[in-house]
Amino acid sequence: MRFLTADKIHDGNNWLPYGTVIEVSDKGEIVSIKNVSQKDAEYFEGILAPGFVNVHCHLELSHMKDVIPEHTGLIPFLRTIPAHRNDFNAEQKKAARHAAYEELIRNGVVAVGDIANTSETIDLRARKQIHFQTFVEAIGFTEANALKCFDFALHTHNEYSKQQLDQPILKQSIVPHAPYSVSAKLFAYISTHIGSNVISIHNQESKEENEFYESRQGGVCELLAGLGINYNEFMPTGKSSLQSYGEWLLPACSLILVHNTFTSREDVLYAKNRFADTHWCLCPNANLYIENKLPDICLLYNENVNVCIGTDSLASNHQLSILAELVTIKKAYPEFSWEILLKWGTKNGAEALKMNETLGTIAIGKTPGILQIKNLGNSNLETIVKRIL
Ligand SMILES: [Zn+2]
Repeated sequence: MRFLTADKIHDGNNWLPYGTVIEVSDKGEIVSIKNVSQKDAEYFEGILAPGFVNVHCHLELSHMKDVIPEHTGLIPFLRTIPAHRNDFNAEQKKAARHAAYEELIRNGVVAVGDIANTSETIDLRARKQIHFQTFVEAIGFTEANALKCFDFALHTHNEYSKQQLDQPILKQSIVPHAPYSVSAKLFAYISTHIGSNVISIHNQESKEENEFYESRQGGVCELLAGLGINYNEFMPTGKSSLQSYGEWLLPACSLILVHNTFTSREDVLYAKNRFADTHWCLCPNANLYIENKLPDICLLYNENVNVCIGTDSLASNHQLSILAELVTIKKAYPEFSWEILLKWGTKNGAEALKMNETLGTIAIGKTPGILQIKNLGNSNLETIVKRIL
């Protein structure tokens, strides 16, 4: 048994009263939380907080670090990924994704929502130090190929399911890649698949995505044409992408909307009204890398929606660190307190990935992992994160 205390303790939700002591079992389970000081408690400088949850990552793209230049915009970025994705051999890819996995651990991440187009990350899940919700992406904009595209994703999903068996820390679902890469029919296959109760989608990451749905014009047309995809059958809806594809998803699904860089207040109100359980995942450093623009985070905050945090991949980020994402938000929006930001990086992420029974908060019976964070908010000193159990 260990007794832990610190200058400040954040329980995933709020700051706890000064002097609080956390009692933790040898297995990392929170046994008690006492608001009285204890002489023999281990004292930690700085902050104690639950382990971070990275809601959106692509570990299988880790070998693409520094391959794509910054600030190209999403459409050129999307053209470059497939062009270079396979410039690397299996050993290089493996070394890069394992190094990225270790980086996540070093940065205090205890759970990841990991996007997969292949079954390459099975070896990372087998390491069992991080909880995984693997989101197997279905991609295909041609209606006639919808079943074929779904079956392809299902085959990959089944590879991950086989691995899960008796591993409660490993989960998987089939999800749509993005509004401009999934046909209405493929959306229907995904949303009715029994294993896809948690749906994650890249949402409104570029203005071209909304433009395509509103009027079938702009950069997405060029992207699809360049890939040889015939989009003649697609009828513009006159509405934003979210307000269009939202109709093809079941209202009962748990939805994680990733990026939201070009999401309006009307879109937020639509999602609140349409879906019972929506989570808004921000990846600010990737947004700055690709589009050099941040989402309207004040809008999300004022609408009182669930905000959580992801890093996206090393193809569009210099590091895989939830804290680095929070620091970027704090710089752009100093009005957000660390109490709120730490909640987004811990509790809200665990809720988005449906892992909040064990992770995300320092609460009796949970095993959230405990981090020590030093120098937070001190611009003169480097912020340090260390997992202490
Ligand atoms: Zn992504």
